[in-house]
Amino acid sequence: MIISAHVGAGALIGTALRRPLPAFAAGFVSHLAMDMVPHWGAGPGRSWVPVARRDGVAGLVAMGILTAAAPPGRRLALLAGMSGACLPDTDKIGIYFVGRSPWPRRFDRFHGRIQRESTDLLPRDVLVAAALSTAAGGLLHLLSRSRPARP
Ligand SMILES: [Zn+2]
Repeated sequence: MIISAHVGAGALIGTALRRPLPAFAAGFVSHLAMDMVPHWGAGPGRSWVPVARRDGVAGLVAMGILTAAAPPGRRLALLAGMSGACLPDTDKIGIYFVGRSPWPRRFDRFHGRIQRESTDLLPRDVLVAAALSTAAGGLLHLLSRSRPARP
């Protein structure tokens, strides 16, 4: 699954859970669950790097916008949710830049086995990413407008 979709899911989770540690853990689990859903993959012999470059920039921009939009009291849980949701894919960053994954081989094998990739699902993945990020942004907007109840 493209990282932008994981960012959107992690943002929703972080916003909903409000506490950083559960948000981080649930974000991490959401990544693995989303990787089990059919999603885009470059296919054998083709490079994922061109898509990953654009996707990485889009994901970082989404993280920045969502973080800026978050009420201060929700910001840490939001960041934790997004970070947990993106963390498993640090294997690709490690392999690309230093030739090795930061994860134990056992986790990398598991992460590889659960993938359900198809070369024609990129447009749907982009829509999923946009929908999840927009939903998280909408929820953050509602929360920033609501006032705490008076005693
Ligand atoms: Zn993954």
